[in-house]
Amino acid sequence: MSSPQPQSRLLPPVILMVSSPTATPLADQSPLPIQSNPPAKPPRDPHPRIKHIRLVLKISDLSCQGARNLISTVNVITTVEEAVGSVFRWLYTAESTVPGTRSVTLVLRSMGGIAYTTGKDIDDDHKEIHFSTDYIAKISPERMKDEILGVICHEMVHCFQFDGCHTSPSGLTEGIADWVRLRSGLSPPSWKKSADGNWDDGYEHTGYFLEYLEQRFGEGSVRRINEMLGKTSYEEEIFWKDLFGHRVTELWKDYGRMLKEDSATDDIVIVENGESLDGDASSLTPPESVKTDDTGAGEGVV
Ligand SMILES: [Zn+2]
Repeated sequence: MSSPQPQSRLLPPVILMVSSPTATPLADQSPLPIQSNPPAKPPRDPHPRIKHIRLVLKISDLSCQGARNLISTVNVITTVEEAVGSVFRWLYTAESTVPGTRSVTLVLRSMGGIAYTTGKDIDDDHKEIHFSTDYIAKISPERMKDEILGVICHEMVHCFQFDGCHTSPSGLTEGIADWVRLRSGLSPPSWKKSADGNWDDGYEHTGYFLEYLEQRFGEGSVRRINEMLGKTSYEEEIFWKDLFGHRVTELWKDYGRMLKEDSATDDIVIVENGESLDGDASSLTPPESVKTDDTGAGEGVV
């Protein structure tokens, strides 16, 4: 696993003038719906840095099945370009300060696991995404395109995200990567929302929590998290209160409440003249817990 190395690209420390939202108790606020498949955001002006980022493709063995599958399934050039565009679309505005990443090389090679991102030893502003051709060769035909796009999207986030000078919890870093994948419409069907465990368990578990924040506190909430990680180190006690007016533990509990309400709403049936129109009236009882499912495609991406 490798996370971005933002040391050389962080801005000098700045004094934050962040207005905290009024700390209304979350339980008193009316819940907002969480969309499982958020609509794509309208295109906006691209960040001026994008056109200066060099994109490179390296394939160690053209004869291997995984490389052939990828090349025959997607247009590699537009896939990589669109992945960069997605990261900038969701994490930055055209005016944002962005990390100093100057090049991204997609390396297709035989290896264990699925994919990882690293920086070159001599210059961390040159990133490499290593994507396993052994893994690609095993993807089912019906999932091939979306899984390739989703993995590259996730890894591309690591090339351009801030991490508070290595102080951000890895679960938050991975959650932001999967949130961008979610927002890009590339979430695998195996992904499920769950408030079991901890908020920073990472990947889609944290990604859906970030989506809740986006719904609860407004468009751009995750972008603000990333921007904050570009300006300050991560200190849990003040980080979330500065951004959202609440501790992350409070937000996580509220997220769990919303999921339960969501689940209960899904189970509500219309009863007319004493008879259920859709199954047994006992289904009015809300489920006690939200089911989890962390298996399937998308697992193992780092
Ligand atoms: Zn990752």
